[in-house]
Parts: sequence; C-alpha cells; structure tokens
Amino acid sequence: MSRRSIATTFALAGTVLASAGAWWALRAGEPRRGNRTSIVLVTLDTTRADHLSAYGYSRRTTPSLSALAARGVRFESAIVSAPNTPVSHASILTGAHPYRHGLRLLHGGDSGDLSRATPTLAEVLAGDGYATAAFVSAFPAGSYFGLDRGFAHFDETFGGSGNPIAPDGTVNTGDAQRRGDETVEATLAWLAAARDDEPFFLWVHLFDPHDPYLRPPDDEALVYAGKVPSEPDGPRRDRFLIDLYDAEILFMDRQIGRLISAAREDALVAVVGDHGEGLGDHGWWTHGNLYQEQIRVPMILAGPGVPPGRVFSPTVRTVDLAPTLLDLAGVPEELRPPPADGVSLARALGGGDPGELPAAYSEVKGRAIYHPLWLRHREPEKRGEGFALVEGGWKFIHRTTEDRFELYDLSADPAESADLAGEKPDRVAAFVRRLAGLGAYGEEAAERGEIPPDVLKKLQSLGYGGSR
Ligand SMILES: [Zn+2]
Repeated sequence: MSRRSIATTFALAGTVLASAGAWWALRAGEPRRGNRTSIVLVTLDTTRADHLSAYGYSRRTTPSLSALAARGVRFESAIVSAPNTPVSHASILTGAHPYRHGLRLLHGGDSGDLSRATPTLAEVLAGDGYATAAFVSAFPAGSYFGLDRGFAHFDETFGGSGNPIAPDGTVNTGDAQRRGDETVEATLAWLAAARDDEPFFLWVHLFDPHDPYLRPPDDEALVYAGKVPSEPDGPRRDRFLIDLYDAEILFMDRQIGRLISAAREDALVAVVGDHGEGLGDHGWWTHGNLYQEQIRVPMILAGPGVPPGRVFSPTVRTVDLAPTLLDLAGVPEELRPPPADGVSLARALGGGDPGELPAAYSEVKGRAIYHPLWLRHREPEKRGEGFALVEGGWKFIHRTTEDRFELYDLSADPAESADLAGEKPDRVAAFVRRLAGLGAYGEEAAERGEIPPDVLKKLQSLGYGGSR
C-alpha cells in the first residue's frame, strides 16, 4: 500500500466517479497466462465479531475460523460501510462506500442502484481471465440489487414462495433464503467441476445467523441452542434467542470448514461479515443502527502473501478488502479500477508501516421495511438516517433525522455507554467537517467544504465557538 493511495482516497472522490466509465472502455486486454491465485470470498451475514471464538468469545462457536486465522491475518477491528445486507455487500464487492457506488437503501422495490460506473471485484477478475462464480443464501445478497455483476455463474436458488417482494413493497427475506449447508453443497459441486488450469474467484454468502433465528439441523451445532424447544416468554426469551444465534454461527462455521477443505490449498481465502446484530444492546435486537456491535465485523485473510498467525489491530474497513485481494492476487495495475474508497492492506499485513489509515465510515439511509412476521423486534422509529466515523479510538455518529450527535471514546468505553458529544464540541465539529467533505450533507456542502447552517447551529448549541 502506498501512502499516495491513502492520501488520495477521499481527495479523488469526484474525479474517480467521472473517470470510471472511461476506465471500462480501456480495460479489455489479453488475459494473463501462468499460475495465478484463486480467491475464495466468504461473506457472513449478521455476524458480530464478539460472538466468534476466533475473536475471544467464551463459547466455541468458530473452530474453522480460528484455524483459518491461525494460518493468516485476523483483523481486530473491521468496520462495514452500512449495517444492512445489500448496501454492505455492494461496498465489499466494489471497495467503494455507498455514496460512491449508489446503492444506499434497503427498500423493497425502491433501492438505489449499484452504479455501473463502479466496477465490481468479479468484473475486474473476469477481465483478468478468472472463472467467476457466486453462491448466495438470501435475496438481499442477490441479483435484484445488482450484486451478480461480473459473475459468469450466479446461484441464488432459494426456497419459499419464490417472490419475496410483496405488493406493498416489503421484502420477505425469511421466505427467500437457504441454509448454509445447502449453499455449500451447491458450491462443492461447482468446485469439483472447476478446471485445474484456470484461476477462479468464488463468492459464497452464508445467511444462517440472520433473523429469524432457527434451530440448525445439526446435533453438534445444537450444543448452544439450549434445551428449551420453543421460544419462552418473559426475561428468558432474550437468552433463548442468543443461544439460537450462537448455534447458527457454529452451524455456519461448520459449513465454512467444509468449504475451505474442498477449495484449492493455495487459494487466497477471505472471510468477512456484512454487519453485526444488536442482540439487545443499545435497545436494539437486529441491525440497522450504527453502534459497534452492528458495524464491527469479523474479517480474516489467509493464503499466498498473507503471514500466518497475525492479528492486525488498527481499524480497517471492509471496503479495503477488494483492493487488498487484487493486490495479493497480483492483478496488473492497468486492469485494476481507479482507486475508490478502499486501500490495499497487502503491504501492511507483513508488518510494513500501514501509514495513516483512513477513517472508517458507515451510514444508514432511510428506513428498512420488513415482512410483518418480523415485526416483533422492529424499531421503526429508530431507523432514521445517520452517519458514523471511527478514527483514532473515537466514534462519532450524526443522526441527521433526529438532529443529534453522539461521541464515544472507544478505547475507554468500547460499549459506547457514555456519550461525550456535549463535552467535546471541537472534536464533534472536526468529525462533522469530515462528514461534510464526504458528501454526507449533500454535494453542495461537500463542494464548498462548509458545514451546513443548520448543522453549525446545532454545533454552536453544544458550545462550539469555531466557524465553518
Ligand atoms: Zn446482512
């Protein structure tokens, strides 16, 4: 990773968008020959890092991921671009934040579009002669949101009624998913037929820990599911649901173990979460908010060019994964897309100076609409727009719908329990300025580099004495 690539990450925002289309036109070239690294990308839906034994959880939920981490790098603090499935996956697959790739909402029938000007990892690797295939486990990770772009083979075979979009525009995800064992079964069949002389890029999406939590059909995984056969009422209900959640993580981990042992031994393997889960923290049960338990996810990398048994402590972003994979796979510069938001961590993995890593950005735009079956845990009044930044041990959230700032000292208060926004208006102002520069408050504010008047007024009410 060069310092230049970091320095230009945000500065290039406008020009990259304009030039990406042109890049496509110039991209085509002769595929490279010779030995190349195959890539297996596994995305874990709804998996918060602190419920994995690979991340120190007291229950042994992830033996396969612990084994993977032992032969690679585990990122202690990886932040997603958005705590919802399609938006976060679009960022993982493009290395771009939502304000750049365009897919920002999770509304059945009313999502933003994944911009064609933003190349996907699969498109880039296909352009370099890779066989590309994806096996996804649920509708929100599917072609409806454009996430199939660049994949020659895209398997989104789900059970249920087949059409998850109701007439009122809601999405019944629970009716359009399959279990991880079924997804991995289909993947293993594809791997068995894959050519030996061709590199592949394989994406496997696993959805098991997503709500509604279900008892896995696996005695080994049921060890954490408790002995209560159905959901109890009252205070025991939360414990029951967390037990099921952990059981689903263990079930998913067992499928990952099967997948990794079937993939080529010399493949580059990347495992990353798309967002976490509230599990009752901060008054939330599912996801769609910007607290750490929802935006901090597991991220593990192993294979050629990745040193074994390393823990990478600085905060990184899931948008860094795509450029890192292209770097490690040795994809020529001329075939790679122009720098977007992600930066390659390849050099830093080996102990090189990571330089000044960019702040981690995450956003929630608009409201999610869920199927009535799920309304039990829905908190619609809290699903407003908001933006978060994590940098230098601090966490900032601006809930624009509620016109509220929150500031947490993550080093001293990782649970985000003491909001310091009222005590540190200058620090809040610095974060607000960063968000303005990223376009969180609209393009006009970003171009002028100014804090919008209403946001400034709110800042001044906290005691901020500076100007725009
Ligand atoms: Zn998800």
